[in-house]
Amino acid sequence: MLLVEIGQANTTQGGNMKQESMKIDAGGEAIDLEVIRAKYAEERDKRLRRDGINQYIEISGDFSEFGKDPYVAEDLKRDPVVETVEILILGGGFSGIIGAKKLIEAGFEDIRIIENGGNFGGTWYWNRYPGAQCDVESYMYLPFLEETGYMPKEKYSGADEIREYQYHLGKTFGLYDKALFQTHVSELTWDEARTRWIVRTDRDDEIQARFVIMACGNLHRPKLPGIPGIMEFQGKMFHTSRWDHSYTGDDLSKLADKKVALVGTGATGVQCVPFIAEKAQQLNVFQRTPSVVAARNNQKTDPDWFKDLQAGWQRERRENFYSLVSGVPQEVDLVQDGWTEIMRILGSVLYKADDAEGAAKRSKQDIDLAMEYADAERMMQVRNRIEEIVQSHEVAENLKPWFRFFCKRPTFNDGYLQAFNRPNVTLVDTKGLGVERITPTGVVSGGVEYPTDLIVFATGFEVGTDYSRQLGLTITGTDGLTLSDHWDEDYQTLHGISINRFPNLMVIGQVQSVGGANIVLASETQADYIVELMKETRRKRAKRFEPTDEAVSAWVEHFHEKGLKNEEFLRNCTPGYYNNEGQPGERKGFISARYGAGLFAFNELVEQWRKDGFEGMTFQLEQD
Ligand code: NDP
Repeated sequence: MLLVEIGQANTTQGGNMKQESMKIDAGGEAIDLEVIRAKYAEERDKRLRRDGINQYIEISGDFSEFGKDPYVAEDLKRDPVVETVEILILGGGFSGIIGAKKLIEAGFEDIRIIENGGNFGGTWYWNRYPGAQCDVESYMYLPFLEETGYMPKEKYSGADEIREYQYHLGKTFGLYDKALFQTHVSELTWDEARTRWIVRTDRDDEIQARFVIMACGNLHRPKLPGIPGIMEFQGKMFHTSRWDHSYTGDDLSKLADKKVALVGTGATGVQCVPFIAEKAQQLNVFQRTPSVVAARNNQKTDPDWFKDLQAGWQRERRENFYSLVSGVPQEVDLVQDGWTEIMRILGSVLYKADDAEGAAKRSKQDIDLAMEYADAERMMQVRNRIEEIVQSHEVAENLKPWFRFFCKRPTFNDGYLQAFNRPNVTLVDTKGLGVERITPTGVVSGGVEYPTDLIVFATGFEVGTDYSRQLGLTITGTDGLTLSDHWDEDYQTLHGISINRFPNLMVIGQVQSVGGANIVLASETQADYIVELMKETRRKRAKRFEPTDEAVSAWVEHFHEKGLKNEEFLRNCTPGYYNNEGQPGERKGFISARYGAGLFAFNELVEQWRKDGFEGMTFQLEQD
């Protein structure tokens, strides 16, 4: 063990940090922050591109096939629905299910849910690629476990189990009768005279709804890389979120004589690789930026442990996890996984060797520096793990990520690195440049063409593009104003939920609201907010609400003030959707659309806002 003294030069300013407590076990290697920072900057600069998010191709026109639902046997035939409802929810994933369940519980029964897919599930409906699994612990991620009594099979649930659980929630909460599946909402138009939204769909439905909740998810519209020649390819290709089981076989056995090219090594690519590797004749993994691949350590749930959990356990567990990953020290780490590991390292640096009182007095600068060291140590563990597992030195070097742990979505897998020891798997490292070209018969990188039968695009989802484009939907508010125009430069919301000029419209999602690794928790928080707003609307006998321009401006300003720290962090990161492909100043990026002060601050602020009488929200009464 080598103990490294940290912050000798920079941290004494805080005055309260004892030198002997500022040492970390660097696993036998000294951590030189200057060297690490320079390496991170070099790797980032290699990947920065002028075109940012515009490098990707939208799935429309010639590329529409990539978006088709492969999981429904035949296109549904039904008559158009013409009806008037109180609340329309767009989306039947976790956000839609949670929103509907909570509203019904609060006495709002007249609800219609419209969903693109053939069933409930949202992201878990679409993502059925081999190995799809939730990286967030199931005991925290799956909602309403205390109510349903459902015991997840494992610490990390597979996609099939999650999807089944969503179907179960749909049945338990009586949501199937309210749902229209395989239906795409194409237009939402506010009708001031009727004080209602007019909702049009691709099945000629015409629904009038007094209130609309957008529960459409954040990473749902697949995107393709802007690689020249895609449409010239003569073999088979699909996006991971539209897996064609008829081509691969459910067990992938049809890949036995196929050469597969996998483009993308984010959370999805990492999960698929071990499964394709096992079955394909040849797998070529095209990597632009290596991911952090930490250990998975999945375990079966111990029924005795689960049975003994006390009322309120899920909330406690979620809050403990949220605190830890947000940098708020806790006495215990209930989840103890790869997400909270950094904080365990930090805790051993800052809190164990010292008393809590001393820790509390430390300056923010001291803490930030200690965090950077904890991060550096964590990343060193990640790189060391690659060396231990991957036999080829060259491949191991190419798989090493050089950025801070939370710069990109970390991944957790016990089969990915091992796959590169197989003779039928090749890592094609594109040196940060990405795939060069696609020909009718192969994929080209570094001037070499790799013959290919199947291209799997694990290239992620639209983030930061125009909201209406992400949804494939035109939303028109008062005086003919479209949401695209209203949000042209930046989102305009109150608390990320309601929108000026768009009365009675609410959002569960990531537009200036709370986020986090456990997105389901964020959805529950937003659904609770919506329930309170709806209850207030009913209590007042109001038919319309809308936030004032002033309230929206104040929230937007406050929101960006709180996000500045994130922006600084993200600027030093290698590009990806977290930092809007290297342009973190852009206000509609993924992380920059999350409330920087975190969940607890958000809850406090909102509670005060309610106590103060929903300040900034205008309600129009029934008789007005
Ligand atoms: P990502 O956007 O994270 O990854 C896309 C990948 O495609 C990156 O590796 C990217 O490289 C690569 N890429 C893009 N363009 C090219 C190109 N021209 N040539 C070569 N490679 C290219 O998408 P994912 O689907 O992996 O993940 C999206 C998100 O979905 C995750 O971050 C996570 O939030 C969620 N998810 C959650 C899971 C869970 O457990 N809950 C499981 C799986 C996904 P580069 O990094 O250089 O941009």
